[in-house]
Amino acid sequence: MKLAMIGTGYVGLVSGVCFSDFGHDVVCVDKNPDKITALKAGEVPIYEPGLDDLMHRNVAAGRLSFTLDLAEALKGADAVFIGVGTPTRRGDGHADLSYVYAAAKEIAENLDGYTVIVTKSTVPVGTNSEVARIIRETAPAAEFDVASNPEFLREGAAIEDFMRPDRVVVGVETDRAREVMAQIYRPLSLRNAPVLYTGLETAEMIKYAANAFLATKITFINEIATLCEKVGADVQAVADGMGRDGRIGPKFLNAGPGYGGSCFPKDTNALARIGQEHAAPQRIVEAVIDINEARKRQMTDKILGLIDFAANGKKIAVFGVTFKPNTDDMRDSPALTIVPALVGAGARVHVVDPQGRKEGETLLPGVVWESDPYRAAEGAEAVTILTEWNEFRALDLPRLAGIMAAPRMADLRNIYSPEEARAAGFTYTSVGR
Ligand code: NAD
Repeated sequence: MKLAMIGTGYVGLVSGVCFSDFGHDVVCVDKNPDKITALKAGEVPIYEPGLDDLMHRNVAAGRLSFTLDLAEALKGADAVFIGVGTPTRRGDGHADLSYVYAAAKEIAENLDGYTVIVTKSTVPVGTNSEVARIIRETAPAAEFDVASNPEFLREGAAIEDFMRPDRVVVGVETDRAREVMAQIYRPLSLRNAPVLYTGLETAEMIKYAANAFLATKITFINEIATLCEKVGADVQAVADGMGRDGRIGPKFLNAGPGYGGSCFPKDTNALARIGQEHAAPQRIVEAVIDINEARKRQMTDKILGLIDFAANGKKIAVFGVTFKPNTDDMRDSPALTIVPALVGAGARVHVVDPQGRKEGETLLPGVVWESDPYRAAEGAEAVTILTEWNEFRALDLPRLAGIMAAPRMADLRNIYSPEEARAAGFTYTSVGR
């Protein structure tokens, strides 16, 4: 198949590269000239394990290319994927669909024969119908179908998720579009990945329901963690005991500083908004959003509590600022609330993160960036672990304690056991234990 991919972000680039690896001819388009220049020069603009190699291999095989020119990408394309951003719209929590609709209009102006227009971006119910309307209005004679194909990959494990998905969801309205989508995903069906065909609205809904459920699961265990602290229970043992129940499952039961990232915050907000608009309020999701916001403030207090809320002039070391390990993505990371609050309380904050500095430097003004956790902790009154990068999992705790002004640790990812941290001399706090 010949495919065009619009948007070369975390989803567009990974999808484009993986589709080319399936054997399809893929042209990736972006509006951002810097990204396209970098990609043409063989540089991957994001940090995603394994992406460099796969991209280089498929470019070398002549199946993958990059352009600023949408018309060129659409020439002879069987399908075009929209993988542009759908951030939260300022003011009302709704998904900002302006990039999706702008892409739809540009596609309509450049269609070349029958093409399936596939939305991969996460979009509210009704968006695919609106994309179809825009295309009909802009190009009344165009031959096309629309399809909804939400993406479920996780940053940090994106290639594995794309190549071995739990399921692929495809919303279509015609047999012709279904046939094109079946061809595109044939390499995965051959590997027994289930491809679920639904209507457009159902496909759109599955993505929001899945993300909201996962955000709820995290938030649930975070609230349980707070209760565990009060009653002397251990949230990790509780999560283990719960997660072994096949009806519950062990994943997304790690208590921490609150969910963040490019998807859960904006998708829960959008789902709450969609519910309100349709007089079907999503009260669980609304509560999840509130609790998660409050969580980040509680975590700030947990850190400041270590130094009796007297941060002025004191050095605090922060280990990890990306919203999770193995990504450079800082979007809606809990660190974006917690670190400025520490700076605001008067602390001298020294930050170390294996990949977060590039994005983080502009987002976290007033902090000192370090490349080594021991240097960051030198002379500090407290350290906090916000992201569970492997680099922070096997620190020499006695050494760390020895170089600090006072060994205090707020381990918000429960990387260390309270016993080992205390044995190393730390005044230690974590979550739910
Ligand atoms: P991103 O911001 O990383 O990338 C979007 C890209 O689209 C940018 O490079 C931008 O320049 C480009 N773009 C915007 N308008 C364009 C246009 N008209 N023509 C060409 N290029 C254009 O976004 P992302 O994280 O890849 O997310 C994309 C969508 O996928 C969102 O709806 C998101 O919710 C969804 N999603 C993301 C993830 C994830 O882990 N990041 C996972 C599943 C789904």
